[in-house]
Amino acid sequence: MTDARELFRRYLAQQADLRQPPLVLDEPLRSAPVQARPPDDARPPTPPRAERTESPRPERAKPPRARKSADAPRRGRASKKSEPPPIPGPGIVVPAPASDLFAADPLADATLDGLATQINGCTKCRLHTSRTHAVPGEGPPDARLVVVGEGPGANEDAQGRPFVGRAGALLDDILAAIDCPRETVYIANVVKCRPPDNRKPQGDEIEACMPYLHRQLALIRPKVILAMGATAAEALLQTRASLSALRNRVHDYRGTPLIVTYHPAALLRNPNWKRPTWDDVRIARQLLDR
Ligand code: SF4
Repeated sequence: MTDARELFRRYLAQQADLRQPPLVLDEPLRSAPVQARPPDDARPPTPPRAERTESPRPERAKPPRARKSADAPRRGRASKKSEPPPIPGPGIVVPAPASDLFAADPLADATLDGLATQINGCTKCRLHTSRTHAVPGEGPPDARLVVVGEGPGANEDAQGRPFVGRAGALLDDILAAIDCPRETVYIANVVKCRPPDNRKPQGDEIEACMPYLHRQLALIRPKVILAMGATAAEALLQTRASLSALRNRVHDYRGTPLIVTYHPAALLRNPNWKRPTWDDVRIARQLLDR
């Protein structure tokens, strides 16, 4: 293909043959620019492979993180805002004793304060011999929730108060978590005197002491009872069933709903039981709200 310079050269030669002056254009002849390839020695040397600079990779857009719901359960820990478990089905029913006009109950007329006086001077079982203080229980006489434990430990025996020390502090936290501050709850034990060496109370000791607890519950008439630990559950429900078999049921103690859960001292030994305890106390909370 003839390029523009060749055409222009022919044109000048033709004009010369015709003795005509060359036509001078106002603008230079434009032709399509030809991309001339520079000679090899004019091109910049290609750097060796290792010296090539890598152009930065474009940043890949990250998908937005899904936000955790405030109600999503936290891994390994019970979330206070997660949905409470459903209220479970019925369990053991302990009927109120039939009234017997001929059986005189020595505690029938006792008030809470009168019971405390009797307990402080009680010698009905061997536990009185080793106690520093009896621990009758404490709380408002019209409490809607009653917590029942096994018996006093060393701190309780020293102070004459139930659930003090580390287990007591944990109980305070549990109660606060279900919006039942300790000062609104009545707290008592199955036996009112400390068994030596923190052993479990024996059957005859429980039998001797239970009338005090029965009378306390009859006077307070709570809306819900929370039995913490196997000893409390067995004594109130008159059963030898295991604690795990008694959990997750709404038992009936003389007409009052009763929930069974772990004792705070057991939770200090085995934190894995905190989760089921959290479920249990939220069931108790729902029963209080009904
Ligand atoms: Fe009395 Fe109960 Fe103490 Fe035994 S444990 S001495 S029955 S108050």
